[in-house]
Amino acid sequence: MPKLLIIITHPNPILRKKSAKIEKADEKTRRLILDMEKTMLEFDGVGLAAPQVGKNIRLIVINTKDGPIAMVNPKITRKSWRKELGEEGCLSLPGVNGNVKRHKKIRAVYCDAKNKKRGIKAEGLLARVIQHEIDHLNGVLFIDYLPAR
Ligand SMILES: [Zn+2]
Repeated sequence: MPKLLIIITHPNPILRKKSAKIEKADEKTRRLILDMEKTMLEFDGVGLAAPQVGKNIRLIVINTKDGPIAMVNPKITRKSWRKELGEEGCLSLPGVNGNVKRHKKIRAVYCDAKNKKRGIKAEGLLARVIQHEIDHLNGVLFIDYLPAR
């Protein structure tokens, strides 16, 4: 049975480390994916990155209208020139919201839980969530884009 994970909050230094590439998704990775999906859904998140549950590895889960998807070693391959402003929050920054400019459309490549290479085209909210979660793998938080107060 998948279990709920503890979500790490800012300013934990784990959130600021660059995460390592996953050599190959194994049983342990697949268990972690199920736990992360359960945790994301439980806390009403639209996405969750492994560093947020204390693992500095390149893995994110995203909640789409067709259900959760896991992306191992996700990488943005194309991004639209056009950007749009949208409100963001983060499970690692409870109570904080802010408007962030993100690329309106993106394409990304990743491996699924069974190490199959996949691609995704996204726009709007889905594109925003993928950009936000990949930022986590590079130690970047959405507050980094907000004007200094
Ligand atoms: Zn976040």
